Amino acid sequence: MEGPASVVKELVENSIDAGATEVEVLLEGGGSDRIVVADDGDGILPAELDLAVQRHATSKLTDPDDLAQVSSLGFRGEALAAIAQVSKLRLVSRPPEASSAAGITVEGGRVGARFEAARAVGTTVDVQDLFYNTPARRKFLRTPAAEQVEVLATLERIYLAHPDLAVRVRSGTAEIGRYPRAAKLEEAATWVFGPEFVSAQFSVRSPGTSPVGFHGVLARPTVSRGTSVGIQLSVNGRAIVSRTLSQAVRAAYQDYLPRTRFPVGAIRLTLDPSRVDVNVHPTKREVRIQGERDLADALRRSVRAALVGGTQVADLPAPRRSGTAAVPEKPRTVAPLPALRGQQQRLEEPPPAPRIAGTGRHPAVTLLGALFRLYWVAESDGDLVLIDQHAASERVLYDELRLTGRLARQELMDPVRLPLTARQRTALEANRELLRSAGFVIEPFGGDQVRVRSVPSYRGRRAEARSLPPLLDELADGGRPTVPEGLAERVAASVACHAAVRAGDEITAEELGRVLEALYRTEAPAYACPHGRPVIVRLPRSRLDGWFLRRGA
Ligand code: ADP
Ligand code: MG
Repeated sequence: MEGPASVVKELVENSIDAGATEVEVLLEGGGSDRIVVADDGDGILPAELDLAVQRHATSKLTDPDDLAQVSSLGFRGEALAAIAQVSKLRLVSRPPEASSAAGITVEGGRVGARFEAARAVGTTVDVQDLFYNTPARRKFLRTPAAEQVEVLATLERIYLAHPDLAVRVRSGTAEIGRYPRAAKLEEAATWVFGPEFVSAQFSVRSPGTSPVGFHGVLARPTVSRGTSVGIQLSVNGRAIVSRTLSQAVRAAYQDYLPRTRFPVGAIRLTLDPSRVDVNVHPTKREVRIQGERDLADALRRSVRAALVGGTQVADLPAPRRSGTAAVPEKPRTVAPLPALRGQQQRLEEPPPAPRIAGTGRHPAVTLLGALFRLYWVAESDGDLVLIDQHAASERVLYDELRLTGRLARQELMDPVRLPLTARQRTALEANRELLRSAGFVIEPFGGDQVRVRSVPSYRGRRAEARSLPPLLDELADGGRPTVPEGLAERVAASVACHAAVRAGDEITAEELGRVLEALYRTEAPAYACPHGRPVIVRLPRSRLDGWFLRRGA
């Protein structure tokens, strides 16, 4: 038992094993002071309450051979006993056959007398003062906001593995999470991942009609995370981690996501229980799956096919959308190159191609023109170079932000209202001060909405309010409170990304020239944007010559 999140996990898994369709979770002090989990499952007989909190008491294994084919989530009979050892626990339950509920209390492992209680069919476990009798462990509990982020993450993993379970979470009197009973994984995902995800989501299914296989919902590359925790896996209703399977999902996005980014989504696997060994890890989060390699391969191929099949063009960053106005659909063709323009206006001097002077370390660059309002074609040191206008601008903003460490704030004339997911709201609470110093002033707006009053700005460009939800997701992924520099870098990266020149923006060669000059001035110009995408690609003259079979040139 590490903290509130692992207590919540055990209790809710017990509810699922008891056939519950609904659980309500209450947290006080992020769960360190109190955790209550109430369900509508099939309860515990009064005579068996004592047994439930004893070590190695489980009602879930009757035949030792069952161990090979575990279908319930718990089966060791340890969780309730372990929680009762280190807290003040109250267990109240009513099975359908009883006319009233009965309860017991346990304090530091000592079981008190049974009492009568009032309750509808189901079970309530109330855990107070976690680790009150082990101060050394209590000291390691984190701030309420940080524990709360962790609890919500845990509940979301469980919910994505069991979309048919309705989960409500309160902190004190405030509702902080609501995950309604969903008929489909696709629907459950909308409650967990938020609106950006919904607009980018697609489904995958294992080929064939066999009930054994996988079903998943993932986001197209426009939505991504900085770590692999956005890929939620489950096997037979149990949330698991598997490097092999996560890697397979990620591998499917090759060339669609930069190396430092990870896809987001949920994959549910349904396998013959005899193929799954849940005894390899004490919390049963890691499991051994027979034939995991083949499964991973099939998963990668299905995800790849769904991704590539559905989105021939979405591998480019989405064009800038401001408010609801769409980008005017100009044909994506080659902007006139100065040389061609010279031909049309035969008698005029062609405008000089902008040239960025070299430095000791970097050769000069002559800009020739832009392709697709994204890639600039240029000549440098006798080679052809291509420059990604968004990545270049983003890199420069990021470096300058980190160097100065300051982010100006720009008040929004029209404060923007945004819906946030439960997890995003919790991450906001946990990082409010840091976000404020980074330029985001945010206030609650009732329900799941917040109002963004100001955003970070930099030299006339400003971050968009809608960059906030993905930023909060990344902050929540960190789990533990991040070191300030780490946060500052992530905020800077996010602000830079959203304040930078976008793919699809029409900019002049002069503007890009200024960006490149700034890039050259940077102490150690990194040729990758903060997200790890390349900024400049060099195509050696010799390659071009090779294409045209001028091998000797
Ligand atoms: P395990 O889940 O491994 O059996 P636990 O210590 O988590 O062990 O729970 C012990 C027993 O208590 C379970 O086997 C079950 O019979 C009973 N129990 C615990 N929680 C619930 C619940 N929410 N509803 C019904 N029975 C429960
Ligand atoms: Mg259990």
